[in-house]
Amino acid sequence: MGEMHVVLRHRDIPDLHDLDVYVAHGGYAQLKRAVTTMQPAEVLDIVKASGLRGRGGAGFPTGLKWSFCPRDVYPKYIVVNNDESEPGTFKDHELTLRNPHQVIEGAALAAYAIGAQAVYIYCRGEFWQEMKVLEAAVARARAAGWLGQRLHGTDYTCEVYVTPGAGAYICGEETALLNSLEGELGQPRLKPPFPAVAGLYARPTVVNNTETLANVPPIVEKGAAWFKAIGTEKSPGTKVFCLSGHVERPGNYEVPLGTPFEDLMALAGGVWKGRALKAIMPAGASSPVTPAAKLAGLPLDWERVAAAGSTLGSASFIVLDETTDMVWVADKTTRFFQHESCGKCSPCREGTYWLKQVYRRLVAGQGTAADVDLIGDIARQIDGKCFCPLGEFALSAPRSTLQLFREDYDRAAAGAAAQNGQAHA
Ligand code: SF4
Repeated sequence: MGEMHVVLRHRDIPDLHDLDVYVAHGGYAQLKRAVTTMQPAEVLDIVKASGLRGRGGAGFPTGLKWSFCPRDVYPKYIVVNNDESEPGTFKDHELTLRNPHQVIEGAALAAYAIGAQAVYIYCRGEFWQEMKVLEAAVARARAAGWLGQRLHGTDYTCEVYVTPGAGAYICGEETALLNSLEGELGQPRLKPPFPAVAGLYARPTVVNNTETLANVPPIVEKGAAWFKAIGTEKSPGTKVFCLSGHVERPGNYEVPLGTPFEDLMALAGGVWKGRALKAIMPAGASSPVTPAAKLAGLPLDWERVAAAGSTLGSASFIVLDETTDMVWVADKTTRFFQHESCGKCSPCREGTYWLKQVYRRLVAGQGTAADVDLIGDIARQIDGKCFCPLGEFALSAPRSTLQLFREDYDRAAAGAAAQNGQAHA
């Protein structure tokens, strides 16, 4: 199974980021058709029927999420979650740089479907280049009459604003993102109420991932049946997989969901240096590692990756070859989550700190067998006791590597014992 470019169309159409090129290839035609000839509910129904699921991580049905917004409460908002921060994820980076108008048109279609007149594109703090591209794209589309007041002679208005974050991973969580957008500290909110009822400025709000929204214009153009014919029954459409780590050709690959693991790896040239595969992290640093034995022939969709003991998430495959020390991997992810813990709740704030200390000892050759046991004890103090999912994300790599690759931990602890033995000899 090869690549199929629905959202990465810029790979086939040079200069698609340019408004004239985008319009020449059908761009903004669906938004115009929607506001001039369709009811908002029709757009919502097409997306609902398509089975499109969120591409940011949770895989929640997009049309269903839109339908949670109350109909007669105004104003409402669409927020584009372009806070792409998961280690190993770089698809939205490419999409916003190379195909920004498809994201903007998708967001405007979403706004029309729920009755919102404002779209906020929230970009991670480091995306200054992407922000420039998006701001220029919005300005040109507005000047050309594709966005703005009273579109195409109708009563419908859609304004799009591009907003920077400040570089915090937790602002990828939608309620922390909304706090940040309001100028507050980027920390998660208590749910309920959910954003669909009380989101930005306490008004009904839908937060969608960048790649999710880029799928909307082709769905409205070609219909739900076209989209459902791609991928699998429960996971229709294509997905951009970000391949990094020990592969010959790291990068983004857009393939139908359900593509076998080997086919995807073949597109990236396989494991580098002719080595064997040890495991992958299928959803970046926050996912449990999946060992090579469970990946053989595995169709890549949300259901079957979950059945293999991990999560597809945003499909950010960090590939780990046979030489990888899994204690080193867990140390890396632990340091990341400790750094990114927002500090709101103590199990995450303190627990990730203590995990980091234990891993520091193990990778420095100063750990013991008791330290290996301590990882499980600390994990039990974090699990199920945190305010938001980041606390549990921090446990994915430690727990899965300890369960699947215990020998790497025993080696780390044995190294320390040998060092101690020499010191006492
Ligand atoms: Fe903040 Fe971590 Fe608590 Fe989430 S789990 S609210 S990131 S301290």
